[in-house]
Amino acid sequence: MKTLVILGSTGSIGTNTLDIVNRFPEAFRVIGMTAGSNDELIEEQIRHFKPRVVALSNAAAAKRLRHRCGDVPVEILSGQEGLVQVASVSEAELVVSAIVGGAGLVPTLAAIRSGKHVALANKEPMVMAGQLMQSEARRLGVRIFPVDSEHSAIFQCLEGHRVEDVRRLILTASGGALWPLTKEQLHDVTPERALQHPNWKMGSKITIDSATLMNKGLEVVEARWLFDIPDPQIEVLVHRESIIHSLVEYEDRSMIAQLGLPDMRTPISYAMRYPERLPLNLPSLNLADIGLLSFCKPDHDRFPCLNLGYESLRIGGTMPAAMNAANEIAVDAFLNGGIRFTAIPDIIRSTMDAHHPVEVDTVESALEADRWAREKAESLVLSLAH
Ligand code: NAD
Ligand code: MG
Repeated sequence: MKTLVILGSTGSIGTNTLDIVNRFPEAFRVIGMTAGSNDELIEEQIRHFKPRVVALSNAAAAKRLRHRCGDVPVEILSGQEGLVQVASVSEAELVVSAIVGGAGLVPTLAAIRSGKHVALANKEPMVMAGQLMQSEARRLGVRIFPVDSEHSAIFQCLEGHRVEDVRRLILTASGGALWPLTKEQLHDVTPERALQHPNWKMGSKITIDSATLMNKGLEVVEARWLFDIPDPQIEVLVHRESIIHSLVEYEDRSMIAQLGLPDMRTPISYAMRYPERLPLNLPSLNLADIGLLSFCKPDHDRFPCLNLGYESLRIGGTMPAAMNAANEIAVDAFLNGGIRFTAIPDIIRSTMDAHHPVEVDTVESALEADRWAREKAESLVLSLAH
């Protein structure tokens, strides 16, 4: 029986995680859960999974939840402090980190610092402070298991091999919802159109990140720190079908790939139960039915965000944190109809150009860069608003 905390239990990764718990009730026990403000869904989850402690970051929603759950023996906390308390509860062995955005950094780091292993879906904290998170994890003997499908694939392709023998990591990218569009067409794209991902059903922020290819830029930074591989050895390959989830090339030019139908329950369950593989009873990948798989290079002209990810790593320090924060603000503004799709990379670029990076020697330096970049990006959004 593994004891779990799920940060972000009401989201796309959170609900898929709970689906796995539901299928294997003898394998997992949920001790704690957190969410942003969805008190209705988390009430259902509390009644079903019976966690001991829950936190909502939104104080008003936490108050509503206390009212709803008056008849249930559960402790309900609120705010970032509440999230941190749930992330570090003593009984939990594994924390599933599935908050969206930089808001997950402090709770995820709290989980590591209290000695919990982490199943990491929330990639933004790795972008903001990956080196720091990894050194804390090493210091405390904590393992960070990747949930992101590409990183789970690479993790699986590295099993039983020597990191010294790795020549390249190749992250695959679906290209997102807007891959076939011209630059002119991208200019007029609506949020509804950009949210139509061809292969994956995910939260809205990551779906827009997939459409701009910023998701792949974030994933390059994530891979840099998760696997301790320098960025010149990390490449991106567009593979529209999302069947090959990523590949590793070794020095002898042998390449190992991991394949599967796009379903996040596979990488989530591997991170939850590593090294065991749970009998998930999902549809099998039938390659004969699929017939052909396609590959091509990323298009940096139409989708400049991928290169911003590489650039942030080359500059280093707090630059990835500033990039991430600017992206969160720009994506939010696009989803709310405040800016055009094509303004997203412009806002990130201008924020990065104005940022003076410093070392991420403490989490505060990453958080300070995050605050600065959010403010900068907000002002750029206002100046661009159409
Ligand atoms: P989502 O929007 O569906 O869910 C986000 C969760 O975080 C919800 O529970 C929400 O209540 C909570 N949350 C939002 N803002 C918060 C805040 N300020 N404070 C505390 N909690 C907050 O997102 P998702 O698609 O599940 O993605 C979660 C993370 O996993 C992201 O970092 C994403 O990049 C990564 N990821 C997701 C997928 C996927 O298939 N959805 C795949 C790979 C990686
Ligand atoms: Mg991914």
